[in-house]
Amino acid sequence: MITLLETIMTKQEAKVRLEKLKKLINKYRYERLVLDKPIVEESVEDSLKKELFDLEQEWPDLVTADSPTQRIGGKPLDKFTKFTHPERMLSFNDSFDEEDMQVWQKRLERLDPSATKNGFYGELKIDGLAIELVYEKGLLKIGATRGDGLIGEEVTQNLKTVEAIPLSLDDTKRPVPDILVVRGEVFISHREFKRINQEQEKNGGAVYANPRNLAAGSIRQLDPVITASRRMDSYAYSVITDVGQTTHEEEHDILKDWGFKTNPHNKYLKDLKEVQNFRDHWEKEREKLDYEIDGVVIITNENRMFKKLGVVGKAPRAAVAYKFSPRESTTKVEDIMVSVGRTGTLTPIAMLEPVNIGGTTVSRATLHNEDEIRRLDVRIGDTVVVGRAGDVIPDIKKSLTELRTGKEKVFHFPRTCPVCGEAVKRVEGEAAYKCTNQQCPAIKREAIYHFVSKSALDVDGVGPKIIDQLMDAGLLKDTADLYTLKKEDLLNLERFAEKSAENTIAAIQSKKKVSLDRFIYALGIPHVGSETAVDLARKFGSLEKISSASLEELLAIKDIGQVVAKSIFEWFQDKHHQKLLAKFKEVGLQVLKQESTQKSSNLKGLTFVFTGTMENLSRERAEELVREHGGDTSSSVSRATSYVVAGSEAGSKLDKAQKLGVKVLDEKGFLDMVS
Ligand SMILES: [Zn+2]
Repeated sequence: MITLLETIMTKQEAKVRLEKLKKLINKYRYERLVLDKPIVEESVEDSLKKELFDLEQEWPDLVTADSPTQRIGGKPLDKFTKFTHPERMLSFNDSFDEEDMQVWQKRLERLDPSATKNGFYGELKIDGLAIELVYEKGLLKIGATRGDGLIGEEVTQNLKTVEAIPLSLDDTKRPVPDILVVRGEVFISHREFKRINQEQEKNGGAVYANPRNLAAGSIRQLDPVITASRRMDSYAYSVITDVGQTTHEEEHDILKDWGFKTNPHNKYLKDLKEVQNFRDHWEKEREKLDYEIDGVVIITNENRMFKKLGVVGKAPRAAVAYKFSPRESTTKVEDIMVSVGRTGTLTPIAMLEPVNIGGTTVSRATLHNEDEIRRLDVRIGDTVVVGRAGDVIPDIKKSLTELRTGKEKVFHFPRTCPVCGEAVKRVEGEAAYKCTNQQCPAIKREAIYHFVSKSALDVDGVGPKIIDQLMDAGLLKDTADLYTLKKEDLLNLERFAEKSAENTIAAIQSKKKVSLDRFIYALGIPHVGSETAVDLARKFGSLEKISSASLEELLAIKDIGQVVAKSIFEWFQDKHHQKLLAKFKEVGLQVLKQESTQKSSNLKGLTFVFTGTMENLSRERAEELVREHGGDTSSSVSRATSYVVAGSEAGSKLDKAQKLGVKVLDEKGFLDMVS
């Protein structure tokens, strides 16, 4: 990735940046390796290292011996016998995207035009520990850790406890040389990690944070009995001794013949396209493996070429670690903008130098509110850590204030609405500022976005882009105007042809009869989510009854408290909203009475929780199905939950269900129940 930074930096600026990056990377490394108390995700370190590496590529004479790019791993401890590797254990440079890979290939081809002619070998990059094994006359003599790459530690007794590592080799398929050096990795599977932690919990011991640290601790355990009690696993991946092997693929076959465990997913890859597919496939499927991987290792398949291309720094030129998109990364805040939501809430948004996180390019991240900006101390120009948990909007985790130049600007939260210019008010008891102008164009725009969205009326093909165009053309002032749109109105807009205009109008008109709960939710009343909308629809049955309900009547509903009741009551009292509801009637919108949606009471008394992604049903539709058959839905699992319906990539809710003994259904099982 070519960043803006590189193109505009002078050498002096690059030097200053390099120094700051090195200091910060070292600090994080110390916390993680020496103290065993990492304070940021390792991917944060990686992305800083990547920036450092790129800068060093551009300014090679600024590379110093103490640069984090010039070392591998930590120093050996004194407790174990030191072991000098017969051949240095190298590490890999990182690659993060397709462009990086193309740059890598071109670099190799400059050194030798046929560098990658014979393809690549791809391996899963397991988050474990690298080891070296020395066999004498077919018997395991020494097992060692990597250490700093030159000198490791002898942990033979401990490695002997790992069943996947052969103690003697099978020479029936092919001869074994007198002295054989092999490399591989050890790791702890997810299942074993869970088992060990459960045991720890039972015995009142401390719970381990992640499998990698546990594996590291187990390998460097002075008492092999403890190591043995943790069933570690291992894959071998490289033959150092020359036994006539010509390709890396062949090495794996040889290892297998001798009795080593090799990873069955590793494979030959013809070209970069296959490399990309291999990497993308495992980025998606990584959760299905019983161990953690953080990328794939790509290596030129031909051994002769691998040697010829040589080593730069401490990494071989002919191999890279092609990482998965990190779940956290660093980037720069270019600006801070304020957006106005449909309820008038002002939300500060950080505009970011684009960065890839979890497979998506992220260029903006929410800062939530003024307090959050202060807490994080984010300034315009800062380098920040951005993260994405699951599929939620990315947010800023941390500002790396150590990297400041002094040119960063403090952001001042506006006291007037950035859209309509009216004064904003801080809501009592909340961190948010709100625009108080009900006619604020920003509020109306967001209200229409919400109205047509998937979870509200779900108007197919109508999204923010079209709404912006229609509003800018003066064709749309509020949600009710949607229903008066004609084909001709759309044809005047960019991107619309006869057919697409027809389809869009048809999609809007198909939502002229709507269920009461969806309509209530689509109105965007503050504090009214889809569950509250359902409660209201069930209790009152019609829009007329809800709009004329008193505060007391609203409060009588289970799950509706003071704040929500007041919000609903005030919304319907507002003259602008009453006008809007009248307009909906005028344009022919029909809000169905609630009873009509109930099809059976098969699920009466049952509560369902949905988690993960289902193949055929949206979450909204699935919950609707439950209600149509008289059941209830909830967003959290408890003992009161009757069923948890788990789709693919189900998360903590599924774990909780299993813990509490709640019955779990898959999508098919659920559909069988309602059909
Ligand atoms: Zn405003």
